[in-house]
Amino acid sequence: MAKDTCPRCDGDGTIKCPTCKGSGHVGIPIISEVAEAVLGTSDECTRCDGSGEVRCPNCGGKGEV
Ligand SMILES: [Zn+2]
Ligand SMILES: [Zn+2]
Repeated sequence: MAKDTCPRCDGDGTIKCPTCKGSGHVGIPIISEVAEAVLGTSDECTRCDGSGEVRCPNCGGKGEV
């Protein structure tokens, strides 16, 4: 079986985080910006650690299937 580029992540091995939709933050965006400015922190997405990307579940992060 030849390996193929994973169609889900396009070979990147990562996909947009479904929890924060790739923003790296959860919650209401406007509130997040205010919270970040005021508190010096933000509601960082715990699933992707704020990166906005998570390992592709289809290929396990290898980028090929
Ligand atoms: Zn996330
Ligand atoms: Zn993949």
